Amino acid sequence: MKWDLGRRGGVEDRRGLSGGAIAGGGGIGVIVIALIGYFLGVDPQQLTQIVNQAQGPTQQAGVEGTPADEEGAFADVVHTSANDVWGRIFQDSGRSYRPSTVVLYTEGTSTGCGYGQAAMGPFYCPADERVYLDLNFFQTLDTQMGAGGDFAKAYVIGHEVGHHVQNVLGLSARVQNAQGRLSEAEGNKLSVRLELQADCYAGIWARQSNDQLNWLESGDLDEALRAASAVGDDTLQKRSTGHVVPDSFTHGSSAERMQWFKTGYNSGNPDSCDTFG
Ligand SMILES: [Zn+2]
Repeated sequence: MKWDLGRRGGVEDRRGLSGGAIAGGGGIGVIVIALIGYFLGVDPQQLTQIVNQAQGPTQQAGVEGTPADEEGAFADVVHTSANDVWGRIFQDSGRSYRPSTVVLYTEGTSTGCGYGQAAMGPFYCPADERVYLDLNFFQTLDTQMGAGGDFAKAYVIGHEVGHHVQNVLGLSARVQNAQGRLSEAEGNKLSVRLELQADCYAGIWARQSNDQLNWLESGDLDEALRAASAVGDDTLQKRSTGHVVPDSFTHGSSAERMQWFKTGYNSGNPDSCDTFG
């Protein structure tokens, strides 16, 4: 990915701020495995449950600007590009769009959804409309989950901005309301549809940003697909427990996640992302 073709919109940089690491000692690896299933969009209810057990600082403000380091710059460019693409899509259909903010942090940080920890993986908080990224996750994605490469990371950011789009459209709130009336298994099915739609939206971003900037290189799409596969519920469950329990899926299988990313990429049209239909 020729990511330096993209524009820098800025991030909120909280890296190195003391967020107060909650998990002490050697437990972090276990937590990473246990929670990795929530990766790519912890649903806010789950997040709140997790974070309520830990009390972080009430307010934390990072430095707003364009980070000088390559990792930070990359996250900035991809996140900015995703907001630019969605801003245009909304504008074309006569809707107004509010861009998300991306927060870079290490270990832990306070969020509008409670205390966020790196072990949760990247997530989006609808309450403050921020994407929270601990860049060390990308290392895990590469070395432990078999999905390296810049476009694997870009897919993750595109997916999180996809959740922001759902939030702006009011979809997340509708799903959450419906889940309050459903059994856990039925509620999980709605979570899966929301997650797969965010994958499709990541595909929309990939396609439309490339139409504009021509920045994809050979192998990039495969990197995104490997990442989508690596975070499928079946793959994650097999890794952590050795077996698969479909009723507990909250994100979709590896095959579904790859398929919906491809659907978005091939069509370039958000109407093709009706995972609820
Ligand atoms: Zn997600």
